[in-house]
Amino acid sequence: MSVHSKLYEGKAKILYATDDPGILLADFKDDATAFNAQKRGSILGKGNINCSISSKLFQQLEAHGIKTHFIDSPAPNQMRVKAVKILPLEVVVRNIAAGSLCQQTGLPLGTVLKQPLVEFYYKNDQLGDPLLTRDRLYLMELATPEQVDIITHLALQINEFLIHFWQKCGITLVDFKLEFGLDSEQQVLLADEISPDTCRLWDAAENDSNRRVLDKDRFRRDLGNVEDAYQEVLQRVLQAVESKN
Ligand code: UDP
Repeated sequence: MSVHSKLYEGKAKILYATDDPGILLADFKDDATAFNAQKRGSILGKGNINCSISSKLFQQLEAHGIKTHFIDSPAPNQMRVKAVKILPLEVVVRNIAAGSLCQQTGLPLGTVLKQPLVEFYYKNDQLGDPLLTRDRLYLMELATPEQVDIITHLALQINEFLIHFWQKCGITLVDFKLEFGLDSEQQVLLADEISPDTCRLWDAAENDSNRRVLDKDRFRRDLGNVEDAYQEVLQRVLQAVESKN
């Protein structure tokens, strides 16, 4: 496969065209940003780790009937993906209160939600990725009501699968962000990545008073040992995939 021009460079990935117009190559970077890119840095080995974790999770989700953009991973930090038109939405699913939910509602950190919460944010750095209402989403024609229903259903299905998968890794899934795209037949596919950059992952072995964070919050909050945490998550994912139950 020959790789052509760089199509897009984001905060964590570079997207290249390939000789097949239906296939793109995503190159995962070690660069890390937080707080709408106000904090910048690098996490050594993150590109390889996040690409490997995402590849495994996309494969597992495909095996459970969830359609994703994943094709294969030709190198540890590279993923071949189906070309899709990404919807400008960040779809956040929450099981436990953390981050902006606590800041905006006053719910204490760690509150277990009675049912998963699905939220839509407008993927727009200039506006600071604001929380959307469904009416605003329709007003701006970011997705159709039918697409929003499909995405909500998929997000909840993915959450069910991921809660169980991360449990097998000894990890509590607090919340995560998904992105979806439309293929040439307007079919909704799960896209982007699922990794410690996009999930809040807490070590299930620790209790609330001694919480061990295994995700990008280590970088956001300068908790140290960021590389070790990412590496540990990858090892646990590989073990869980191998154990196959
Ligand atoms: N998230 C993400 N990209 C973003 C914003 C959020 O991957 O641009 C993830 C984040 O890692 C967390 C979840 O979405 O797992 C919910 O994030 P939240 O809204 O609490 O925002 P934060 O406090 O992370 O800014």
